[in-house]
Amino acid sequence: MTGEPPTAETVSTLLEDRELVIVSNRQPYSHEYDDDGNDWEGDDGDGRGDRDGITVQRPAGGLTSALDPVVQSAGGTWVAWASGDADDEVTDENGRVGVPPESPAYDLRRVRLSDKQVDGYYYGYSNQVLWPICHVDPAKMNADSDFWKQYRSANRAFADAVVEETDDESVVWFQDYHLALAPRMVREERDAFCMQFWHIPWPSWDTFQTCPQYEHLLDGLLANDLLAFHTHRYCQNFLDCAAMIPDTMVDRATRSIVYDGRRTFVRSFPLGIDADYRRELADSEDATAFWREFRERHDLGETLAVGVERLDYTKGIPERLAALEEFWETRPEWRERFTYVQKASESRSRIPEYRELQAEVESEIERLNDRFGTDDWTPVVYLNKFLPPEGLAALYREADLAIVSPRRDGMNLVVKEFVASQVDELGVLVLSELAGASEELGDEAVSVHPHDTPGFADAIERALSLPESERARRMRDLGRQVRSNDVYAWMTAQFRTVEAIQRGRDVAARSVQRQRYEQ
Ligand code: UDP
Repeated sequence: MTGEPPTAETVSTLLEDRELVIVSNRQPYSHEYDDDGNDWEGDDGDGRGDRDGITVQRPAGGLTSALDPVVQSAGGTWVAWASGDADDEVTDENGRVGVPPESPAYDLRRVRLSDKQVDGYYYGYSNQVLWPICHVDPAKMNADSDFWKQYRSANRAFADAVVEETDDESVVWFQDYHLALAPRMVREERDAFCMQFWHIPWPSWDTFQTCPQYEHLLDGLLANDLLAFHTHRYCQNFLDCAAMIPDTMVDRATRSIVYDGRRTFVRSFPLGIDADYRRELADSEDATAFWREFRERHDLGETLAVGVERLDYTKGIPERLAALEEFWETRPEWRERFTYVQKASESRSRIPEYRELQAEVESEIERLNDRFGTDDWTPVVYLNKFLPPEGLAALYREADLAIVSPRRDGMNLVVKEFVASQVDELGVLVLSELAGASEELGDEAVSVHPHDTPGFADAIERALSLPESERARRMRDLGRQVRSNDVYAWMTAQFRTVEAIQRGRDVAARSVQRQRYEQ
């Protein structure tokens, strides 16, 4: 890649005049009746985006907010589940609404799903079958056959909407594991370029085979022209799985699979963040003000570690607390000097496993604080309420360590947010070797295995004891990588690949035509 860093405009240039259609479970804008508090930012209050009694909400950060400017710049359509309770009030008879509301640049096409579909497709199959299998925890799978039925019907609803919004020239970009079947359903009707990014890990064949519907899932995904993962390892795992089903030809040299008369290219593109935005937040007056108040309110030690995650069993929070207990138990000199701040948010609470985890984390933190805490020092500060982005930025900026120790994670963006927020560049990253981010950033982190409690405690000590020059060297290096592989570079690399695949096909098609002509 040469010249200027990639931006939203670079992506739209690469698309030339092909229409982009993004398909995701989560929508970029939702319409809610007033008084629905959640983790979304409300509209800016200028009245243009809102209607009487209805507020427009947009996600604060994350992939959806990074993709939004790209679709705004390229134009096109975004197909997503109508999750807002007032969504139907503002869409036309075809389920479309122009967004952003204040100056529409593209169409949001909303897919209506019944409560039964959402339960079975989202909370059921996506999060109780695919999620545990892909995170290599098949014992947690709940293979309820109704989940599969609803997953199929929801994928059909998405695919029908996509077919209505596309023609054979469109580029359709599916996001994630909620939509494994939709590409095949679209392919039956359209010759569009289909691509998909799978945001969670892809497991080995032995694990994937535990999913009863493995053949259907592969059949759906192999309708894509380009299938992308965060890491090289996940790509290899996918090629291995594809090789195990009948009628596929896996070409390791080109990392592609021929199936049902088409070729699917399999590539890794590690997802990045909007690093400039995170850096600005961390450097802001608001972050400084938040930190001043936070310090006063809590009995912190002079040294601070931070962990930030949804309350999900894959994130390894109880395992981390066990390592911290071991650390304070075996190194009493760190008591009253070192505090761990756990920012956590409730997630998927309709699933019993997740509710149990929430209770376990709370009771473990209480136990550790009872065991080690003193009148002037809290070992673990637990924040489970909404934190504004500048508050999170302040924690990242001030933390001496970030402890990111998932049992398994596709990538883990908290790692990159911490790095991008390190204004003084002296923080240390403690990173699980089982996070996708480890493939890219592991060399400059202090590596841990989440289940090796004594080794984990040793690693915390090692991280705390690194000389300043070494911390700075590592963080500068991490910072360079996070900035140069940001979310725009991630998108640009994919659309350059689309262009290359397309060019290769055009050349092949022309050569076939020439041969026919010469015969
Ligand atoms: N996050 C947040 N508040 C929380 C927990 C997480 O804002 O209490 C954000 C975090 O800043 C990051 C995202 O949620 O942007 C988590 O992304 P990651 O890839 O680490 O994990 P995921 O939740 O997607 O599995």
